[in-house]
Amino acid sequence: MSKIETDVVVIATGPAGLAAAISAAQSGARVLAFEKGSTTGGTANMGMGLFGVESRLQKLKQMGPSRDEAFKIFMDYTHWRVDAQLVRAYIDKAATTIDWLEDLGVEFLEPAAYFPGGAFTWHIVKPVYEGPPGPMAATAMMKVLTEKAKELDVKIFLQTPVVKILKEGNKITGIVAEDKGGEPIQADAKAVVIATGGFGDDPKMIKKYTGYEWGKDIASMRIPGLTGDGIKMAWGVGAAPSEMNMELTYGMPGESEPALNRSFRQPHLMVNLLGERFMDEGIMHNTTFTGNAIGVQKEKTAFLIFDETIKKMMETKGFDSVSVVFPLMKPDDIEGSVKNAIEAGNKNLFMADSLDELASQAGIDPEGLKKTVDEYNGFCAKGHDDKFNKNHTLLRPIREPKYYGARLLPSGYGSLGGIKINYRTEVLDKKWNKILGLYAAGTDACSIYGDSYVFVLPGNTMGFAMNTGRIAGERAASYVKSFD
Ligand SMILES: Cc1cc2nc3c(=O)[nH]c(=O)nc-3n(C[C@H](O)[C@H](O)[C@H](O)COP(=O)(O)OP(=O)(O)OC[C@H]3O[C@@H](n4cnc5c(N)ncnc54)[C@H](O)[C@@H]3O)c2cc1C
Repeated sequence: MSKIETDVVVIATGPAGLAAAISAAQSGARVLAFEKGSTTGGTANMGMGLFGVESRLQKLKQMGPSRDEAFKIFMDYTHWRVDAQLVRAYIDKAATTIDWLEDLGVEFLEPAAYFPGGAFTWHIVKPVYEGPPGPMAATAMMKVLTEKAKELDVKIFLQTPVVKILKEGNKITGIVAEDKGGEPIQADAKAVVIATGGFGDDPKMIKKYTGYEWGKDIASMRIPGLTGDGIKMAWGVGAAPSEMNMELTYGMPGESEPALNRSFRQPHLMVNLLGERFMDEGIMHNTTFTGNAIGVQKEKTAFLIFDETIKKMMETKGFDSVSVVFPLMKPDDIEGSVKNAIEAGNKNLFMADSLDELASQAGIDPEGLKKTVDEYNGFCAKGHDDKFNKNHTLLRPIREPKYYGARLLPSGYGSLGGIKINYRTEVLDKKWNKILGLYAAGTDACSIYGDSYVFVLPGNTMGFAMNTGRIAGERAASYVKSFD
């Protein structure tokens, strides 16, 4: 086995890992980073931007929230059932991180909210491509961070997964990784930062720790390689588990074409398998709340339904709910898109000349659906939703064939949590003692949302990754100095 020696080992190079590596190096530590994948950047390569407060950009636009306001929103939202010290440390760090990233050379567009009523905390990265920002805009940031890490002499080993963390007594002493040829490399180090992005690509862990059965009642994104490695290695050296969850949203399984996707995320009629309404569709822009609401229905399944009149309205006037990620204002030809998708084998889209036929295609109880549509059309006629008080401007009857429907399931960006840390990102054992020299950051340690992702403060998971990464890097470097 080949052996190397350093001060700090960082496991993985997503936003948490790269931020940790850069911060540790900026604090004077020698750093090695080991990455399982063939590129740096992790899941952030697919994202758009991160949470920030009190940034230069927000100040220029007179935008809140301040760190105090964000902390209050966060703790009210989570009912204080999360580690308030960790939340505070993260939000306080976030008050400098966007400026820190700008100093490193990252360029941002304006801060954005994710949906109406949300806070303008989402600092969307200026993409390298022309046109409006979309998924993968944040790749530009991850490139800048990678270059900066290299400039600071951080050695990055790609396609070299860490397979074991080494500990003697209560002190971390390094790691073992496997190179491209499967040969082990031992890296001796005084501190190790774990940042392997969670278990979103491991259906068995998802089932065991969150209860969701992937492919059946959740269709979350599976980013290759996120198989809980860091969590399992941390548990292996005595780390306590933290609350584990999915970063829940909702969606139509297997359909990513923006026109279709957006058309079936509009606040029209939503029913469950019984044909019954179960939520105020007017809040569907909050994808976490919608995922939650769908998740407590029979077979965790819902259907979004509209008729020909509503379809034409969307094609002429445009969408009620416009997405920052897919900024499409109106679809061209919904019927054509649905037809093509069905012909291509999509089993989650339905089109029929009667509600009975639509119910039969989708497996919805036809009597239940008929009753619901009658009741809903009554609410539309009188301009008040007696059941869920949906905004009256969104009440549109379902009565003109054709009828269109889509099956929606809970979805998600990935997993949350696994390793118990304190507000200094130090990993704790089951007795809440520190495992000396062990730090965790990002998704592996992100258990600060309680039962629901805090989408009201958007950019939150990437923000948590970047900020806990910075904290972990600084703390690890300072711990290493204590040996001098
Ligand atoms: C499509 C999509 C869009 C998103 N958009 C946003 C957004 O706009 N804003 C936001 O806040 N969040 C967004 N997220 C979530 C965000 O990207 C993640 O929260 C964030 O990237 C987590 O950072 P991380 O460093 O903890 O882990 P990751 O970015 O997931 O990185 C983990 C890294 O660990 C590596 N790894 C795994 N095992 C090992 C091992 N054994 N040894 C070495 N390396 C290993 C992986 O290869 C990977 O590179 C999005 C997620 C998705 C899927």
